[in-house]
This record gives sequence, structure tokens and C-alpha cells, in this order.
Amino acid sequence: MFLKELNQSITTLKGIGERTAEAYAKLGIRTWSDLLTHLPRSYEDRTVTRPFAKGYDGSPVLTVMDVVAHEQIRYRKGFALKVIVKDDTGPAALLCYGRNFLKSTLEVGRRLYFYGQGKLQYGELQFSAFETAPWEEGVPPPAEFSRILPVYPLTEGLTQRRLRRDIAALLRSSARHLSEELPQDIRSRHDLMGITQAVKRIHFPPDLKAIERARHTLVFGEFFYLNLLIRRRALKRKEERRKTVTYPRGLYERLKHALPFPLTEGQQRTLGEILEDLEGDTPAARLIQGDVGSGKTLTALLSAVVLIEAGRQAAFMVPTELLARQHAEEAARLLEPLGINTALLHGGLKPSERKLLVKALSSGDIDLLIGTHALFSRDVSFRDLGLVIIDEQHRFGVLQRVALSRKGSTPDMLYMTATPIPRTLTMTVFGDLDVSTIDTMPPGRKPVITHLASEQSRMRVYQAVRRELERGRQAYFVYPRIGQGVEEALKDATSMYRYLTEEVYPGMPAGLVHSKVPQDEQERTMAAFKKGSILYLVATSVVEVGVHVPHATCMVIEHAERFGLSALHQLRGRVGRGSDQAYAFFIYSRELTDQGKQRLKVMKETTDGFRIAEEDLKIRGPGDISGTRQSGFIQLTFGDLVRDLKVLHTTRKEADRIIDEDPGLLSPSYSICREVLERSADFTEELFDG
Ligand code: ADP
Ligand code: MG
Repeated sequence: MFLKELNQSITTLKGIGERTAEAYAKLGIRTWSDLLTHLPRSYEDRTVTRPFAKGYDGSPVLTVMDVVAHEQIRYRKGFALKVIVKDDTGPAALLCYGRNFLKSTLEVGRRLYFYGQGKLQYGELQFSAFETAPWEEGVPPPAEFSRILPVYPLTEGLTQRRLRRDIAALLRSSARHLSEELPQDIRSRHDLMGITQAVKRIHFPPDLKAIERARHTLVFGEFFYLNLLIRRRALKRKEERRKTVTYPRGLYERLKHALPFPLTEGQQRTLGEILEDLEGDTPAARLIQGDVGSGKTLTALLSAVVLIEAGRQAAFMVPTELLARQHAEEAARLLEPLGINTALLHGGLKPSERKLLVKALSSGDIDLLIGTHALFSRDVSFRDLGLVIIDEQHRFGVLQRVALSRKGSTPDMLYMTATPIPRTLTMTVFGDLDVSTIDTMPPGRKPVITHLASEQSRMRVYQAVRRELERGRQAYFVYPRIGQGVEEALKDATSMYRYLTEEVYPGMPAGLVHSKVPQDEQERTMAAFKKGSILYLVATSVVEVGVHVPHATCMVIEHAERFGLSALHQLRGRVGRGSDQAYAFFIYSRELTDQGKQRLKVMKETTDGFRIAEEDLKIRGPGDISGTRQSGFIQLTFGDLVRDLKVLHTTRKEADRIIDEDPGLLSPSYSICREVLERSADFTEELFDG
């Protein structure tokens, strides 16, 4: 569903004003497409009548009832309306707290359709939330009392009724923009609906069976196009021939010898594979996996040097500005002495500075450019971009990868990730990439010792950290929130910064870092922390990726149960980067579930990122729909990489078969596939330029 027409704002829909749009935005819904893909969390089957007599156990009642009498009951300082009703099977009471206006709707003697969930109280079946509609002889019941209704995830300011109405209206007005996006032969072979029909039915299914089939169709469609895209990209890359070159290795060798340590075996092997790629006769795309601290950044910089010596340019893209600055410093420190020009492109540049930088880049004066995805904005162009390095690749969507390579002729691509990716996924989702793994750690690293602590023993943790601080070591304190939110009980970085500096460690220099702190201040704080003039850093998970401070030996994470295992692993990887023994303290809240305990125990038992990732998948199990979706491997709308693994494999086979048969997708029966792929590529570019 990458249709441009669906990309327009929901405010173009009738009846959606600014207030409603704001409420929708809280759910991440801004465009037509967002709204159409806001899937029901469950359904209410209102096709089967269930009378009052069957509602005593709390199951929903759907019936036709008569209003018998009105009564008054005490409520707050006044009275509330209580309406006595009955159907064929018996009586019930409707409590209308604060809704005295129901008096006229529920007039004595009226017959109405009724839906609600009640409970047995004071010997009668009571309802306080319910829906009604007038009943009329010979007139069919309205939809809300005769169909299967979707139940959507909601937020303040939105109601189920509102969502049902808006989505139904959108389905009517957008139907002509949806096209049947799966080739006919695939639809019949796998018993699929059309995409348009599937979208309609996932929201408003005629019967319960239709829901599964619609969902299957949507997941199939999503995975099928994903596989087709990946497969075709791999093929195109392999088809593109270029002249092989042999690069000089002078600077490369000099940098290697200037390092105070030898490269690890894993780094050497990976570098060998990359250098072979660079000199090869097809453009390269390689995924470098390696646990936190395994030395990926250095490996990437060494690769870049090879190209740069030959007069070409490299770009290094990272997910946050903080990391960009840090990498830029590291790159300057290592490369400038070799006569290589490095530069940082960041949001804080004045227009005039940016202009200068862009010019130096297009004239080739800058050899290595480092920055966030801003590197690929429209005004940035290179003289001869030969290599694109993407750090922490899991932070960027799979589809977004497409747009990146368009800046040079066809640069070689290096994707680096510290998030271990299970083999099944590298085979499919990353199927267009070659993979190298840095499986050795630099020598002398001691594994981080992990302690789990309950909230009550917090003070003991603070004490233990104090001992480290007093010995000149440094610490991180990480919190799930920036500031005080609705959840009062949840500690946040801002108030804990105050508490720690005033009550726990008075007199010890500290810093506060989160995404709302201005960039230049974040930068100053990080620099001071690195230098050691700040002893501890209070932060959110902004410090999760790449931050490198060798003297930091303590990582304290409060409300650890709020973080994903991958995030905990990354955060823990921030310490133990020097030669001192390092510690991680995961403080958990009192209401920790059994599953939560099990998760944290895994973190205590192992520091192996691959095991953690796999345990995470196992514990979460295939039932958890949001799991892999949020894991950041890939942004999916319908499918789930664990639950729908079978579909992923099936669609991969289909995609392979089609590409083998018809690589250009030229036959008329696949023209629809070609169209969808072209549209999704456009869409990706827009994402990046916007
Ligand atoms: P990653 O990006 O894989 O998490 P980094 O590239 O940030 O890891 O490396 C972490 C630290 O280890 C850096 O200070 C780096 O200089 C150092 N390092 C890299 N390779 C080696 C090595 N072979 N021996 C010792 N230290 C190394
Ligand atoms: Mg790194």
C-alpha cells in the first residue's frame, strides 16, 4: 500500500477537524494510508443474539428490549437515572450515571436494540456502559446491532464509533485508489482475496472466517512485495558490471600500523571480504554484524581509507547526531594525520556553513562525510561517492535502503549492525546482502558483571556506584522517560537528575542528556563526560547507540523492565570498554511479571548478543504481534516476522520463481508487480527528501 493518493492528510476527509486530527496523530495516524492500516485489535460479533439471561457471567448481551420503568438512585450529591428494562428472558437495570438525558431516549414503553456488557450486582443484572438504537417493526436492524464490528486501539479524544465511521467513509472514498496488487495466478494458487477486498474485510468482515483470510492476504501481499523488491535489487546489483580496480594500500597500511593494537581475527577477515568487494566487478552490499564493542567503526574507517587514497569519497551515516559527532571526532583523530579531510554534516550548521560544506563536497575537497540521514537530502552531492557506510543499520527501514544508493553512480554499501539478526531473517529480509560477522572481541575486555536489583534495594546500588565514582570511574543512570508524565510512579531522567545531584551525590559533577536538551549542550555534556570532568551521566536511551567512554564502569538502568532486551544489551555495551571491571545494575519495579523476571534473568546470565536476541524471540513467542515490528529490523504494517514466518518463506519462493522466469517483470501478468515496486521506490525517495 504505497499509493501516493493515500498519502494525503486525513484532514481532507469530511468531518475530521484539527482537534480530531490531533487525537489521531497521537496514534501515529496522519494520512489516509495510516488510517486504512490502523487495524482492529479485536472484533465484536454482533451477528448473534444473546439475551439478558446469558449476560450474568459478564459476556456481551445483544438483544431487543422493552423499557419498563424509571427509578432514581443516589449518586454523588444528587441522583442518577436507573432504567428497568426486560427482554424475553428476563429483566436488567441500566445505570445512567451523569447521563440523565437518556430519560427521553429510554422512554417507558419503548422497544430498542441493546448491546452491552453487564455484571451481577445486588441480585440484578446491571449495565453502566451500553448502546441502544430504536427498534422498528419490519425494518432491518442498524449495522451496529447486526454485524461484526471492529474494535480499534484508541486514545483520548477518539471513540470506537468515531473510528468506525471515519474508516468506513475512507474505504468508500479511497476504493478507487486501491488496485488489486497481486497477480491473478498467485491469488488463485494461495487462495487469496484481492488487496482491496482484504482491506475492506479486515475492517468490516461479513463473518469471522473472513478475518483470517483477509489478514493472510495482507500479510502475503506485504511479504511478497518485500521479497520481490529484495530479490530484484540483488539481481540488479549482480548484473551491474564495472571495471575491476586494484586500490593502493599505502594509507591503509599506515593507519593499521598507527593503531596501538592489532586488529582482531574477526576484523581482519571482515576487512578482507570488504576489500575484495571494493575491487570486485559488481557493486557491493554487505552487512557487517558484530556485537557491541567488537570494533565495527574502525573496520569501516579502514575500508573507507582504501577508496579515499584513490581519490574517491565515502559517506558514513549514523542514526543520531550524538553518534555522528562522536564518529566524526574519531574519524578526524585517526584520518586527518594521514591527510584525509573529514567533515560532519549536522543540523546546527548555519546556511552559509552548510553551503560551504556542500560545495567542498561536490568539488571533492571533503573525502569522508559523516552525519545522520540528512546526508541524503536533495542539496547534498558528491564528486565521486564510492562507499556508503550505514552504522546501526537496524535503525533504518529496509525500504529506506533503496534511496541511499542513488547519490553516487552505484557506490558500494556497508551496513553495520550490533543487533544480532537470527539466521532466518538474514536469509529473507536481508537476502540481498552479503554478510560478514566480526565474532571476536578485542582482547582484555572483561565481561560486564550484571546485578538485578529490586526497587527497594536501590540505595545499595547507589552506594556501590558511589564507591566506583570515588575511585575516579564513571557511571550512566538511564531512565525510560525524559520528564514527569502521566505515570506518576515512573522515574524520569529530569527529576532523577535533580534527586541524584541534590540528595545522593551532592558535590559530584553530573550531566543530563536526552533528546530535548539542545544539541550543542548535549555535545558539551558528552565532551565533559568523555574528558572525565563529569562523573556521571543521567540520560534516556539516547546513549544506547555507540557512545564510547572507556572510563565508564557502571550502567544503572531504572525500570529495566520497560526496556527491550536488545536495548538493555546495547546499553550494557556502553560500559566495559576499557580495561577495568564494569558493572550493570538493572533495577526493576515491584510489579514485575514472571515473564519480565525471566527476561531480566537472561540478561544476567549471558552477554552474548545473539543468545539474547534469540531468547527474546523465544520468550515473547510468536503470539506477540508487536514484538518484531518494534524490534527495528524492519517496518511492517501487517506481517510479523515470527508469527508469519511460514508466509515469509512461501512468498520468498514465489518471488524467486517469478524473478527467475521473468527478471524484468515484463510479461503483462506481472506488470502490476512492476508498478507496485516502482511506486514503492518513489515513496522511499519522498521519505528521504521530506
Ligand atoms: P562497535 O562499533 O563494534 O560497537 P567500536 O568500533 O566503537 O565498536 O570499538 C570500540 C572500541 O574498541 C574503540 O575504542 C576502538 O578503538 C576499540 N577497538 C577496535 N578494534 C580494536 C582492537 N582490535 N583491539 C583493541 N581495541 C579495539
Ligand atoms: Mg559502533
